[in-house]
Amino acid sequence: MQRGATEVLIGDNNGKYPHGNSVAVRGVETTVLIDPSLSLWGRELPTVDQVLLTHVHEDHVAGLSLYPTTPVMAHEADAPYLHSLDALLELYGMDPSGADEFKQSLVDDFHFAPRPDVQTFGDNHVFDLGGGTTVTAIPTPGHTAGHTAFLIEPDSVLVIGDIDLTGFGPYYADAVSSLAQFEASMARIRGIEADWYVTFHHKGVIEGHAAFVEALEVYAGAIQRRDDAMVEYLAQPHTLADMVQHRFLYRPHVELPWADSAEERTSRQHLDRLLGQGRIVATEQGGFVAV
Ligand SMILES: [Zn+2]
Repeated sequence: MQRGATEVLIGDNNGKYPHGNSVAVRGVETTVLIDPSLSLWGRELPTVDQVLLTHVHEDHVAGLSLYPTTPVMAHEADAPYLHSLDALLELYGMDPSGADEFKQSLVDDFHFAPRPDVQTFGDNHVFDLGGGTTVTAIPTPGHTAGHTAFLIEPDSVLVIGDIDLTGFGPYYADAVSSLAQFEASMARIRGIEADWYVTFHHKGVIEGHAAFVEALEVYAGAIQRRDDAMVEYLAQPHTLADMVQHRFLYRPHVELPWADSAEERTSRQHLDRLLGQGRIVATEQGGFVAV
């Protein structure tokens, strides 16, 4: 899909994980590729001068090893996790000594190759591609600490990475994630009136601000639904360990190496909010109960 200097390279399976949608922006002087996905393997590769990353999760760098000598840039808060496989595991909050299977998958399935040469950009950095085409780095932390949206002008395209508007809802379960920051980031991009919004997964391209806001509200609603599901569950006292077993993020049958730690970090952040709101209280037995 093409709009001005911007081309969206829709991923296999419509960009469903582990695939995703990459974006090429061709300025007069410089061409950048945003988030090289797994789907680039086996395709004719776009020729690019620079790779930009919304963040450094495995699926967003799965095509990066196809560009081993092309400069790559990530937000300064995310870039260090691209330096090595063990560094990347720290981003997820996984213990490198106990994650052999996941490490193997990062290499075998996601073609992970360390990029200690990754360069960094800060909040609101403007990349000038020449001929009037610019890409502005809009800070959108929460999914990861350095998660960044890219506003492409004058094409009026906002690339929103893993604020992905899927039915799953926002994901803020890594060691570097923050539910509060995720909410603030959604509020920030809600105010940006672009012609196209591009998610990395599934939705792909959304046309117009009204449709975007509608999709964003449904997506953000998952946070409220998780709050409510937890309060309902805590009609009886339960511990955090019980909540990890019960699952509020993934469905019970889903087997993922990080599922338990993701459930724990998600529940912990919701518990903090619910305690602050007075919707639950801590019990003397170390659990929580709704009031
Ligand atoms: Zn991600």
